Formats: sequence, structure tokens, C-alpha cells
Amino acid sequence: MATAVVNYTAAAVSDRGRKRPSNEDAFGFSVESGVFFVCDGMGGAAAGEIASSLAIDEMLRSLGTRHPSNRAAGETPMPQLAEEAVFSTNQAIFSRSQRNQRLSGMGTTLVGLVVEERRVWVVNVGDSRCYRLRARRLEQITQDHSLVEEQVRLGRMTRAEALRSPLKNVITRALGTQNRVTPDIIELEAEPGDLFLLCSDGLTRELSDPLIESMLSLDLPPEELCGRLVNAAKKAGGHDNITCLLVRANQ
Ligand code: CA
Repeated sequence: MATAVVNYTAAAVSDRGRKRPSNEDAFGFSVESGVFFVCDGMGGAAAGEIASSLAIDEMLRSLGTRHPSNRAAGETPMPQLAEEAVFSTNQAIFSRSQRNQRLSGMGTTLVGLVVEERRVWVVNVGDSRCYRLRARRLEQITQDHSLVEEQVRLGRMTRAEALRSPLKNVITRALGTQNRVTPDIIELEAEPGDLFLLCSDGLTRELSDPLIESMLSLDLPPEELCGRLVNAAKKAGGHDNITCLLVRANQ
């Protein structure tokens, strides 16, 4: 069977939303290096913004300089490289918060893709999400690292209760808040036509999965789709910062 080589195109939009005074989300990507990340920062004053932008910078610095064609056989396997990048990024944020009282406790979520030809690794810490649209069907790839999601998984809470819970903002893993962190790393194989959505919870709190599915199924360029998703989330309330990054696998 012939293996089709895919290439990727990407676009992203980030917006403050309608209620928050600043945007603590951040994104960054390099199509050439096959790395794509979204972060949602938290912390007092400007600390959330610092944590999320530091995370993007560190992840791109760690993984963005490697070009897939420069990687020789026998090199460190990609999941291990991605994990090491998460560890060093975590250390960078944590040590900065330790050095500066004003930044104490800052942290950020991280969701991202690392791609090499058809192989895709999804990296996740926190409650930002990765979805994949394939043949017009939307599938959530990541599991939220949040208190309510864990209660739902254990059967102690229904999904409806989780959405109403006052604890829905409590996340159980973040980058930079502790000395150590464990990322989820999920390996997938991309098919031509796959569309990956990386987004902060400012998108998924406002728009239902069926609505996101129908919007992404429109045959439009990624930048147009990003703009429409963000505008829809703002119209639905825009209570939080909204970020979406779309990565399309082309034939
Ligand atoms: Ca958020």
C-alpha cells in the first residue's frame, strides 16, 4: 500500500473575549518544524500572560529548531523529546515564579501537536483541548485534567453536573505550578483531510461540540474557520479569553 505523504497548513486566532481585561492565552507554531501549541495561563496580575507566553517560547525553542528531515534514525524518539521539552518548560516557569514573589503560583495549560510526516503526537497538560475532525465527525482527543472531569470519569458526577459545578475551573495538572509535571502524550496517524483543533476552554465553554463540528465541516481555509469560531464564542458570551489553532493535513 502506498503511503501518502502529507503536508500541513495552520492558522490561529486568539482574542481577549468580552469580559476579561487582558488575554492570558497564547499560541505559537512552526509549520516547517511541525510543532503547534496553545496555552492558557493563570495567576494574579500579569503572571498568567507571562506563564503562557514563556511556555510557548520554551516549547518552540526546544522542539521548533528540529526539522523533521534533519532527524537521523537512532535519534531520541519523538515522544521522549516532547516529554523532555515539557519538563524543561515546566522548570523554566516554576523557577521564574520562585525567583519573583509577584509571579508566585503562576502556571499554564499546554496542548499541542508535534508532527512528522503522518505521525502525530498530541501533548496535553490541563484543560485546553485537542479535537480531530475526520470525515465531518468531531472527536475529542485529549482528556481534561480537571477536578470535575475526573469525577465524571469515576462515575461520581454526571456531565451535566460537571458543567454547572462551581469547581469546574479547578485543574489538576498545570505547567509551572510544581517542580514536576506529567504530560499526556497520545500518538496518532494523520490521514489527508484531517483537521486538528487546539483550543482554550474559552472556546469550548461557549460552543457545544456539535456546533464546533458543523462549523469545522464547512469547506473553508483554516484562517477563515478560526475567525468564525472565535466570533461565535464571543457572540455566545465571550466570558473568557478564546484561542483556536487549526492544523490541516493535506495530501
Ligand atoms: Ca481560560
